[in-house]
Amino acid sequence: MAKSIRPKSHGKGRTLEQLGLYIHYPQCAKRCWYCDFHSGTDRRGDGYWLEFYRKGLEMFPPGRPLSSVYFGGGTPSLMRPETIAEILKPLNLAGNCEITLELNPATASKAKMRGFAAAGVNRVSIGVQSLDNAQLLALGRIHTARQARTALDNAMQLFPRVSADFIYALEGQAIAQWEKQLAHINSLGLSHVSLYQMTPQQHGEDAAAGFFLATQDGISLPRYEVSNHAAPGHESRHNLLYWQGGDFIGIGPSAHGRIGLIATYCDLEGNYTQEEIAPDDRLREKILMGLRTEYGAENCRLINQTRLDDMVSAGLARIRGGRIVLTTHGLLVCDAVAAALIL
Ligand code: SF4
Repeated sequence: MAKSIRPKSHGKGRTLEQLGLYIHYPQCAKRCWYCDFHSGTDRRGDGYWLEFYRKGLEMFPPGRPLSSVYFGGGTPSLMRPETIAEILKPLNLAGNCEITLELNPATASKAKMRGFAAAGVNRVSIGVQSLDNAQLLALGRIHTARQARTALDNAMQLFPRVSADFIYALEGQAIAQWEKQLAHINSLGLSHVSLYQMTPQQHGEDAAAGFFLATQDGISLPRYEVSNHAAPGHESRHNLLYWQGGDFIGIGPSAHGRIGLIATYCDLEGNYTQEEIAPDDRLREKILMGLRTEYGAENCRLINQTRLDDMVSAGLARIRGGRIVLTTHGLLVCDAVAAALIL
């Protein structure tokens, strides 16, 4: 068991750095074959998880208010709203704290969503994945397209911020079919969507590139991360913390966190370990994350300047406000670009 970690607070009058809290709920009604998150179908009651999270929070005595809380999974919408309220009650939440709950359309009725909103949740991320029943079946999802649309309608009435996840480049899916679905997604009135591509093995590298380019052309919301699109002001503040190298606490089985140069990890039994990260390794992490976003990565001493010039000439990257921002074609080969750029 690691000793406790206190996220630093700042002196009076100084701007507080943002601090996020990720809470992992590792249970699902049914496992989906494509998923590699830590989750299972063995059910433990909400009381077990309340105690698990209470112990986890003891590891991180309050240092500064939380700017975001994210319930991820697994399927955290399986928890009762009262449990969510209990988890949130002792937390030191900033006035405008973003509180997100991942929600499976099959596990959240309108009444339950109302309960989540009353508990303090102000943003939901709905795992829609597809608006086509045959594709949902093939993915092993437990909900229908109609249930997903009902969940979206209900959520948009109850929460100020709603996001939905979709998966594309599914086996047997043609780009034209996905373009049609993108038009449908645009018509839903969402302010945030996450569009994840299946691994290129399904179609091959060239087709994967075609799917990605069609996605960028077809989605009406602006991209702010390689797989995430939002209306201005509706970006996920919690995920931005990760991608911009901010501090976050992670509790729950397999959750990890970053507090300055300390990396934390919670094992499946609730034991926390911590290790110090070398400053250059932390900077590399930030560059890697930043390159995936529209805010870019700092052009710093760990960047190979000759290769950067080559990439700018090749149209894979540009310099904006002193930061390196990948173009759409650069994002297509993001991992290779990052490997070549970072010293
Ligand atoms: S419901 Fe979500 S977390 Fe659970 S197995 Fe399916 S994709 Fe993974």
